[in-house]
Amino acid sequence: MDTGIEKLLFILEKAGKNYDIFKIKQAYLYAAELHEGQFRQSGEAYISHPIAVAEIAAGLGLDTDSICAALLHDTVEDCAEKVNLDEIRRRFGPVVAELVDGLTKMNNIPFADKEEQSVENLRKMLIAMSKDIRVIFIKLCDRLHNMRTLDAKPEHKRRITALETMNVYAPLAHRLGMQRIKHELENLSLSYLDPIGYNEVYNDIERKYGINRNFIEKAREQIAEKLTEYNIHFQLEGRVKSVYSIYRKMYNQNKSFDEIYDFYALRIIVDTELECYTALGVIHDMFRSMPGRFKDYISTPKPNLYRSLHTTVIGRDGIPFEVQIRTWEMHHVAEYGIAAHWKYKSGEEAGGDIDKKLEWVANLVETEQDTHDPDEFLRALKIDIFQDETFVFTPKGDVIALPQGSTVIDFAYNIHSQVGNKMIGGKINGMIVPIDRVLQNGEIVEILTSNTSRGPSRDWLKIVRTSEAKNKIRQWFKKEKRTENIAVGRSEIDRECKHYGISYTDAQFNTIITNVTKRLGLHEVDDLYNTIGYGGLSVQKIAGKLRDEFDRVVTPEPPAEPPRDASQVAISQKPRTVRHTGSVIVDGVDGCQVKFAKCCNPLPGDKLIAFVTKGFGISIHKADCPNIAEKRANGEDMTRFKRAEWVDEFIAGQQSRTFEAVLHITALNSYTLIAEITMALADMRVAILQMSSQNKSDNEVNITMTIGCKNLEHLYSIQARLRTIRDVERVTRS
Ligand code: MN
Repeated sequence: MDTGIEKLLFILEKAGKNYDIFKIKQAYLYAAELHEGQFRQSGEAYISHPIAVAEIAAGLGLDTDSICAALLHDTVEDCAEKVNLDEIRRRFGPVVAELVDGLTKMNNIPFADKEEQSVENLRKMLIAMSKDIRVIFIKLCDRLHNMRTLDAKPEHKRRITALETMNVYAPLAHRLGMQRIKHELENLSLSYLDPIGYNEVYNDIERKYGINRNFIEKAREQIAEKLTEYNIHFQLEGRVKSVYSIYRKMYNQNKSFDEIYDFYALRIIVDTELECYTALGVIHDMFRSMPGRFKDYISTPKPNLYRSLHTTVIGRDGIPFEVQIRTWEMHHVAEYGIAAHWKYKSGEEAGGDIDKKLEWVANLVETEQDTHDPDEFLRALKIDIFQDETFVFTPKGDVIALPQGSTVIDFAYNIHSQVGNKMIGGKINGMIVPIDRVLQNGEIVEILTSNTSRGPSRDWLKIVRTSEAKNKIRQWFKKEKRTENIAVGRSEIDRECKHYGISYTDAQFNTIITNVTKRLGLHEVDDLYNTIGYGGLSVQKIAGKLRDEFDRVVTPEPPAEPPRDASQVAISQKPRTVRHTGSVIVDGVDGCQVKFAKCCNPLPGDKLIAFVTKGFGISIHKADCPNIAEKRANGEDMTRFKRAEWVDEFIAGQQSRTFEAVLHITALNSYTLIAEITMALADMRVAILQMSSQNKSDNEVNITMTIGCKNLEHLYSIQARLRTIRDVERVTRS
């Protein structure tokens, strides 16, 4: 049994890249040593598996470190003797160790045949990918070899593995543009998931391909002849579509095998883009093209970077076939996906068209346009995986994962707090952008820094999305801007106190702040200001304590036991300070606008209570207003109730102003009732502001009226007068 690496070395040699053969041999020897005595289920020595994976990876054109990691990929987990990753790091460097670590972590993901579980696996894979995409490449190679050798596994494991491959790995290969691996994974999976269906299609293909071999051969000859006339250097491949793609087409579109018309395909590979279009012209000249089937993926590449010209033409025998035309580079991208870029670009100057090369990550999230691929799974994938994360690149090509909605500032602080603090601007894909610009998948973000930068701005706290950035910005302010923070914090607290609507002296303010500082367990007042200033604590957070201390210092102590009803507050004490605000004196309030509550319409002479509303000044209620009682019952903050009293001249009715009062009258219905009431009021020079009536029963009526009156005494006399009307039974104030 051959367990050497001759074949691997041959592939590497043929690739013509500068592989570090010595390092790869060392990795092989080390892996062989660790897998010594282990066997696969097929009976082969275990080392044959990592070698096969390395061979596939070499075929993709992956680099030395990837080949080493492929050889070592199962050593950390699968060996009886757990190998320290440090040892791999020591022998093969940090990159190989990191790759092996990433692969090992992926192995730890438990297999499950639930789709959600598979999606979850993929999610983890993608997270791993965000650290190093090579982990995914090697994992796909690993999976491909496991699928090729799946026969050796027991039946129930085959199914789980095949399903997982179909649901997770094949779509991933597709997204990475690795068509060759994708097709093989799909075909292998299908052969395990639906062996009968697979064999049917497979045999049909054999049958049809056998019969029509001539047809394809003929078309090839004709085309080759013409292309040579045009002096085009080309390669022609004839092929039929993969078993799985035909199988799916049959099931998705409910077609029989014979109804699949674009079953044949010819591929023309040329040297230049211009030749692609020339060849297309030649083909269209030779054959009748099927309308609506021409697609130019060269000028508009597919999301996974696939580029090619597609057209379907009708052959001489009336059999349609598809023609794909592409350059060699496009061909490699199509076959190997993103890995092909490495294959092509290695050795050339780095940092070339990096945007293009990395575009595929952005495209991982794009909806699949291809109508042949309306896979529910992919849609679910998109929603599940990228809803809360955005992947962007550093200029060096490292992938950074940030919560969705993150900005350039978040990115800068993710790199390093010093990068954030010294940031003076940012670029996305080479263009200067505002630093609050929200990042999109696949963008390359560059932070411009300067040592003379003045540091972050306070506004950044409102812009950033990540708590990491927030914390780092706060840390900076805490450290660098104490004086400024103190001023900001002080003015913020001052502003809050002004909202209370009660004037206070500087001395009072200082006492309040000292008390609050103590209650918060801070050392000195400046610490409190500083914390507020750099955003470590918001004024809203301390508002309760602040208000508490404010009332303690600026207004007198509220009664220890909350009185059972609000009226007691009003009666129990005389207002401490007497300041006229017009009609009403409110405890300690200077020049505050008061308004009379509409719910109870207090009249001069009524016992009052003031209530400090939130944002609408002070409202004056009757002390026995049911609304106030309700507020009290609901545990309203006691400090919002203030003692209030009428100015004497109002109680005496010496002013010209009138107040509104609402009266309820119950009376026997009669033709003259309303006239008598209005006459009586007119007689007393009482204005009727509003009046409505409602029949209570056949002969009884309820009248509600709003009248203008001077004071409580005035109201009493009005009520008494109304009661003298013959049909009136009751007159009450609402
Ligand atoms: Mn493996």
